[in-house]
Amino acid sequence: MEWLKERKPSRLRELYAWADFVRKRHVGDAVHLRGLIEISSYCERQCMYCGLRKGNRTLTRYRMRSEEILECARLANLLGYGTVVLQAGEDDALTVNWIAEIVQWIKRETALAVTLSLGERTRGEMRLWREAGADRYLLRFETSDWELYRRIHPQRFPETPDRMDLLRELKRLGYEAGGGVMVGIPGQSVESLAEDIVTFRTLDLDMIGIGPYIPHASTPLGNGTLRPAIAVGEQAQSSEEMVYKTIALTRILCPDANIPSTTALATINKTHGRKNGLKAGANVVMPNLTPVRYRRLYEIYPEKACVEESALDCNECLRGQIRTLGRFVGRGQGRRGTLEPAAQSILQPELVQLQV
Ligand code: SAH
Repeated sequence: MEWLKERKPSRLRELYAWADFVRKRHVGDAVHLRGLIEISSYCERQCMYCGLRKGNRTLTRYRMRSEEILECARLANLLGYGTVVLQAGEDDALTVNWIAEIVQWIKRETALAVTLSLGERTRGEMRLWREAGADRYLLRFETSDWELYRRIHPQRFPETPDRMDLLRELKRLGYEAGGGVMVGIPGQSVESLAEDIVTFRTLDLDMIGIGPYIPHASTPLGNGTLRPAIAVGEQAQSSEEMVYKTIALTRILCPDANIPSTTALATINKTHGRKNGLKAGANVVMPNLTPVRYRRLYEIYPEKACVEESALDCNECLRGQIRTLGRFVGRGQGRRGTLEPAAQSILQPELVQLQV
C-alpha cells in the first residue's frame, strides 16, 4: 500500500531498480515475443469497460477466417516468435471444434506455443483445447474487488464459475495460466489494487497482464453512466506511474512469472510506455499480427497503439526497443521457469552477492 501510494521520484527509482534486479535474476535479459492475433471482435458479453461489449452498436464486427489465422501463425513462425496468442471477444461462433482444429494445425506445422484468450468458456471446452495442444490460457480477473467486479462484469449465465475458479481449473488441466487486472478502474481502491497483487501470488499465476484502464466512450463505465462510488482519495489512478508501480511490485512478489509490457501501456505513452514497462519488471511484449484491415475494429479501448503498423513494422520497432535497452529477444517458447543460456550466466556468485 505504501509503495502504491509513493510519489517521490527518487523512491520510485529505487522500486523500479529493485524490480528490474529481481527480473534479471529470475527471468534474465531475454524479452519474449508473443504474436497477438485478434481473431474475432464479436462478443456476447456486456462488460461495462470494454468496447467489444455486445451493446456497442457503433462497432463493425469481424471474424477472421481460419486460413487468415493460419497465415498469421506462419508469419509468427517466420519472424522467430515462440508463441501466438489467439484472442477474441466471447464469440459463440468460435465453436469448440473449429478452435481445436486451428490449434492442432498450428502445433503440427510450427514450433509455436499456442495461447488462447477467448474469455470464459466451459471446462469441457478448455479441456478439449488442451488435448488439441493449446499450451496457455489468458483470462484476466480484472479486479479482486468482488463487488466492483460484479458491477463492471455482469454474468451471462447464473452459476457459472468466476474467473478465479477458471484460472485454478486451467492450471489443473495443465495449461500455463495467465491472469491480470486493469489499473485505475473507476471504483477501484488502492487497497484493492494491493490485494490484486497478493492474489497473483496466491493463485501462483504463470503470466500476469497489467495495463491501465482506458475509458471507451461507447461503454457505461467510459461515458460516465456507471459511476461506482468510492471515497475521495481512495481511487487508484489509471496513470502510467500507477501501472509501473503495480508491475514492479508484481515482479517482486512473483519473481519468475512472465509479465508483459502491455499494449494499453504503450497506448497511454506511445514513445516510452513499452520500454518503461520492461524497465520496471516486465519481460514479455506482444507484437500485433492481426491483419491491419481488422486491427482498428478490435477496439477494446480507443486510440490503441500501433493500429496502422504492419506486422513487419511492429516486429522491427519492438526489436529495436529491446536492443536499446541492452536486452535480447528470447528464443524458444519462453515458458515460465526456463532461462536462456545467456541469462543463466547472471546467476554467478558475484551477482548473488550483489543481491545481498
Ligand atoms: N474476451 C477475452 C479477451 C478480452 S480483451 C476476455 O474477456 O478475456 C483482453 C483484456 O483487455 C481484458 O481482459 C481487459 O483487461 C482489457 N480491457 C478491456 N477493456 C479495456 C479498457 N477499456 N481499458 C483497458 N483495458 C481493457
